[in-house]
Amino acid sequence: MNYARFLTAKSAARKPSPIRIMGEKWVRSLPADKISKAPKSLISLAAGSPNPNMFPFKSVIITVENGKPIQLEGDLMKRALQYSPSSGIPELLSWLKQLQIKLHNPPTTHHPPSQGQMDLCVTSGSQDGLCKVFEMTINPGDNILLNEPVYSGTLQALHPLGANIINVPSDEYGMIPESLKEILSKWKPEDSKDPQKNTPKFLYTVPNGNNPTGNSLTGDRKRKIYELARQYDFLIIEDDPYYFLQFNKPWEPTFLSMDVDGRVIRADSFSKILSSGLRVGFITGPKTLIERIVLHTQVSSLHPCTLSQLMVSQLLQQWGEEGFLAHIERVTDFYRNQRDAILAAADKWLSGLAEWHVPIAGMFLWIKIKGIPDVKWLIEEKALKKEILMVPGNAFYIDSSAPRPYFRASFSSVSPEQMDTAFQRLAQLIKESL
Ligand code: PMP
Repeated sequence: MNYARFLTAKSAARKPSPIRIMGEKWVRSLPADKISKAPKSLISLAAGSPNPNMFPFKSVIITVENGKPIQLEGDLMKRALQYSPSSGIPELLSWLKQLQIKLHNPPTTHHPPSQGQMDLCVTSGSQDGLCKVFEMTINPGDNILLNEPVYSGTLQALHPLGANIINVPSDEYGMIPESLKEILSKWKPEDSKDPQKNTPKFLYTVPNGNNPTGNSLTGDRKRKIYELARQYDFLIIEDDPYYFLQFNKPWEPTFLSMDVDGRVIRADSFSKILSSGLRVGFITGPKTLIERIVLHTQVSSLHPCTLSQLMVSQLLQQWGEEGFLAHIERVTDFYRNQRDAILAAADKWLSGLAEWHVPIAGMFLWIKIKGIPDVKWLIEEKALKKEILMVPGNAFYIDSSAPRPYFRASFSSVSPEQMDTAFQRLAQLIKESL
C-alpha cells in the first residue's frame, strides 16, 4: 500500500516531539507492572511534568457492578493524575490489542509496518479519532464515499474540510455493493495512481446499528465492498460504536477481519458499554496511519485522559476478556429488550401510519411517516409541544435542507411505558396532520 497518497500535506508534515519520544521510549521500556516505578538509580531532570506530590487529589475508590472496587492510591494515583503517552497507556493498549486479535484476528497482525501492520491508539472517544482520521486524509475537493442517512457528527466533521461527499445508496442491510460498483465505474481501477483523477480516498460506514437507521451491513456485502476497495485502492473507515450492541449471534465479521492489505481504519468506542463521559475510544489500523493520528494527538490534547484510561484498564484487567464479554452480554440483553419494547409500541400505535425496519443492533429506530413528505415541523415543533423529543431525519443527510419523511427515535433511556405514551401522542399528531 502506498499510504502517502492518502495523506494531506499537513498530516505528512507532522513530526514527533523530541521530548515526548524520549519519555515514551522510557515508559515503553518498562514491564507493565513496573510502569509506575522508575528505578531509584535514575535521576530524571528531563521531564516537563509537574510534581504530583503537589496535586490535591490523593486517592479514589470506584465501586463496580459485578467486580471488586477499583482503588487508585499512592503511585498509581500519581500516574492517574500525570501526563502519559500520546497513543494511550501501555497496559490498556496491550489489552486492547489482544482483544482486537481475539475478536477480529486482523490478517495484518504480523505484517511488517510497510505492509499495513495492525496497530492501535487510544483516543478521547472514537469521535476524536475519527475527526483526526478525516483531517489526516481530506483535502478540499477530495471524493469520499458514504451511505446517507449518516451519523450527523461525521457530516459535521466532513463539511468544513471541503470533502466532496458521494452518497452510496443503501437499504435495511446497509450499503448496496452493486450501487457502489456503479458509482465507481466512472473511474478505471488504475486511475487511483493519478491524483488528477480524484478517485475516492475512503469509504466511511457505520456497519452495525447505524446511527440513525439502526441498519446493519451483512458480512457478504462487506466482502464485496472490500473487494471494490482493493480494486479502486481506497481506505475503509469502519466506524463501529454499536459493534458490542449486536442482538443476534454470531456477530457479523468486520472489515478489520478481512483486511489483508492494511486499508481498514476501525473506530471502536467504550461509550455505549462502559461510559460515554470517560471519553475512551480506540482506533485500529495500519501502523503508518496510526502514527499520523498519534502525532496529531501530540499537538492537540497531548494524550487521552490518564485517569479515564486507568479506570478502564483496571476494570478490564480485573474482568479479563471473559468478564468483559459477560458484561457485553448483559448490556446487549438490556438493549434487545428495549428494542422489543419500542417495536411493540410502534406496532400498537403507528401501524398503518408509519414504516420501519427491525434494528438488529444499536439503540435507534428509524421511522418513515406515511403521507407526510416533510416531518421536520411535526417532529421539531408539534411533537415537542406534546412533550416528546425526537430527531427529524433531515439532520442526517448531506443536504439537510431537503424535505424528509423520517425521524429517529432512540430506545436507550426511556421505559416501555414512556415509549407507549410517546407513540400514542405521536399517532394522534400524525392523524391530525394528514
Ligand atoms: N460514531 C457514531 C456512529 C456514533 O453514533 C457516535 C456517538 N454518538 C460516535 C461515533 C462517537 O462516539 P464516542 O462517544 O466514542 O466519541
